[in-house]
Amino acid sequence: MIRFKNYVKAGSLEEAYTLNQKKSSAIGGGMMWMKMQKRMRMTLVDLVGLGLDGIEETEEEFSIGAMCSLRQLEIHEGLNEYFGGIFKECTRSIVGIQFRNGATVGGSVFGRFGFSDIITCLLALDTYVELYQGGLVSLEEFCRMKQDRDILVRIRIKKDGRQAAYGSQRIAKTDFPQIACCVAKKGDQVYVSIGARPGLAEVVALKKTEDSGLEELAKKASDSFRYGTNMRGSADYRKHLAEVYTRRLLAGLHKEEK
Ligand SMILES: Cc1cc2nc3c(=O)[nH]c(=O)nc-3n(C[C@H](O)[C@H](O)[C@H](O)COP(=O)(O)OP(=O)(O)OC[C@H]3O[C@@H](n4cnc5c(N)ncnc54)[C@H](O)[C@@H]3O)c2cc1C
Repeated sequence: MIRFKNYVKAGSLEEAYTLNQKKSSAIGGGMMWMKMQKRMRMTLVDLVGLGLDGIEETEEEFSIGAMCSLRQLEIHEGLNEYFGGIFKECTRSIVGIQFRNGATVGGSVFGRFGFSDIITCLLALDTYVELYQGGLVSLEEFCRMKQDRDILVRIRIKKDGRQAAYGSQRIAKTDFPQIACCVAKKGDQVYVSIGARPGLAEVVALKKTEDSGLEELAKKASDSFRYGTNMRGSADYRKHLAEVYTRRLLAGLHKEEK
C-alpha cells in the first residue's frame, strides 16, 4: 500500500498546485487506484476542502468538480436525462457502489487509464478539461497530452444537443471492460468513442449521408482505431466488438429519433 509522510488539506488551488510541483507529492482523488501502489511518497495533497465536489447545470453546460464521485455521475438526474442515461450505464459496472462512492471524476480522467469507461463516455460528447495551470482544453487534446503536475479542477460538458448511448462488454460483471463504446449523434454528425482497445479511448467523427447505412458507419468507425491483445481479448476480437457495439448503439439512437 502507498504511504505518505505528510498530509496537507489544501486551502486553495494555488497552494495545491505549488505543493504538487515536487515529484514526491501527489494529489489525492478518491485514492482507490493510488492506494494500490507499493511506494513511499512525501506529501499527499487533498483537494477535499475546495468545493470541487458538486455538479452544476447551466443553460450551456454541465460543470463537474474534480472531487465528484463516480456515484454522483451515476445518479445525477440532469446529466442522465440530458444524455440518455449514459452516465449511469458507464459507471454501473465499475466494481461496486461503495467503490464508486470513493473514486473521483478527477482521478478517473487525470489517470488516463486505457480501460476507462469514464473517458470513453465523455469523449463522445463536447467535453473540456479545466486545468489549474493549463486552462481549458478539449478532452481529446488532454488525452494526447503527456501526464504533468497540473491539477484537474473541473470537467465541462457542453449541452450541444447530442443524443448519446453507451455500452461495454466484460468477461465478468465488474471486471475491466474488453471494449467500451460510446456513440453520440447531432444532426448528420456521428461521434464514436472506443476505449479499452486496450489503449486509451479515442474518438472519431463521421458524417451520416442519405445512403450510408448503420452497418457501413459502424465499420468505418471501428476501422478508424488500432486494437491490441491482452489477457482479456485479442485485437481482432476487440475490433469485431467495436463494430457490433457501434452498430447496435447507433441503431438504438436511430429508433429513438423516429
Ligand atoms: C480494482 C479497480 C477496478 C477498476 N475498474 C474500473 C473499470 O472497470 N472502469 C473504469 O473506468 N475504471 C475502473 N477503475 C478506475 C477507477 O474508476 C478510478 O478511475 C480510479 O480509482 C482513479 O480514481 P481515484 O479517485 O481513486 O483517483 P486516485 O487513485 O486518488 O488518483 C489517481 C491519479 O490521479 C491523480 N489525481 C487525482 N485527482 C487529481 C486531480 N484533481 N488533479 C490532478 N491529478 C489528480 C493522482 O495523483 C493519481 O496519480 C478501477 C479501479 C480499481 C482500483
